[in-house]
Amino acid sequence: MSKIVFFCIPAHGHTNPTLGVVKELVNRGHQVWYYSYEPFRQKIEDTGATFVSCDAYDCEQKLTTKEVVKLGKDLAFSTKVLVDTTLALDDVVCAHMEELKPDCIVSDSMAVWGKAVALKLGIPMVSSTTTFAFNEHSAKIMKQGFGDTVKMIFSLPKISKDVKRLQTKGYPIKNILDILQNDNETHTIVYTSPEFQPSSETFSDKYVFVGPSIRPVTSEITKTADKLIYISMGTVNNDLLPLYKNCISAFADTDYQVIMSIGNWTDDDALGIIPDNFIVADHVDQMAVLEKADAFLTHCGMNSTSEALYFEVPLVMYPQQSEQGGVAARVEELGAGKMLPDIEPDTIRETIEDVLSHASYKKAAARISGSFKKCSGVKGAADKIESMCR
Ligand code: UDP
Repeated sequence: MSKIVFFCIPAHGHTNPTLGVVKELVNRGHQVWYYSYEPFRQKIEDTGATFVSCDAYDCEQKLTTKEVVKLGKDLAFSTKVLVDTTLALDDVVCAHMEELKPDCIVSDSMAVWGKAVALKLGIPMVSSTTTFAFNEHSAKIMKQGFGDTVKMIFSLPKISKDVKRLQTKGYPIKNILDILQNDNETHTIVYTSPEFQPSSETFSDKYVFVGPSIRPVTSEITKTADKLIYISMGTVNNDLLPLYKNCISAFADTDYQVIMSIGNWTDDDALGIIPDNFIVADHVDQMAVLEKADAFLTHCGMNSTSEALYFEVPLVMYPQQSEQGGVAARVEELGAGKMLPDIEPDTIRETIEDVLSHASYKKAAARISGSFKKCSGVKGAADKIESMCR
């Protein structure tokens, strides 16, 4: 039996893929501690792991809504928040790790504090990457080139100062990229298939591509039309009233069935009268909807994209951040979706109808789905972690 410690940032998209892996490790008889945040306590404890709260030390929790949105869009700002959190957690995490003596640390690629403490104390570490793995090759598909990112990081005196603060605390890092990028020396679990990951051949054999974790379908959606269109911009940057209104204009009283998930921040009343062929909700059972959907208008969050492709649903893509832009570019490259060029009602209708009427999009989605289903899943991820335990 080994002692394994997980670290994650407070985001469902980064936490959810790890839960099945933790459960598998617990079932294999290992003891697991999971550093996370109160809103995630229940789902982590349900896996059988011991939940450890980071709330008291966290900088992200104190951010305003506007700042949370900025987090995903502004790399320099995100880096500052991550370094601040690392320093705030430093003493308590180091003390706990010294006492616990874990056999392995599994750290989300953005949870700098997990990777940093492993480096500092010489504990074997596996990086858990819930987006595409990021190196100079795969970064080409992201809107912001890798070179630009590097330049930007070093042009920011504040970031260099933060790195110095980490060094003073005993962290053996030369620059923030040492921690943020996926390098070929770090053992890494990536929750996608090698076929979907851009430039997967450029990553070393320390990488395992275990495929996305797809929740089981637990409820049933009644299909009331020949074609079901699903619309969702995810759970974070979804305050997009003009888009939702234009979707209603595009498909009001047509032969399409439309399910639209609008999140918690958009005022339902501002949408006006909801046509009979629409269901509009703050949140839907996305697995149940995707199982029946024929096309998906999405922001291209990694989870939504993987879930849709798993169910062989072609995409119309309206990314809101550079990471989502990278995912969208990859989907377009593989032929499983089309970018939405603007949000005029006519454009929305024509783009979705194009994806619905050309079988090639669905075929490409089915090919990617096949690549996901071939992956080793939670068992492969658990094997990787076990192989790293000292
Ligand atoms: N989701 C859901 N119901 C909804 C909207 C979203 O269950 O009505 C889930 C979706 O299945 C996915 C996650 O929320 O697992 C969204 O993650 P993603 O990475 O796509 O986007 P984010 O919300 O992080 O921007």
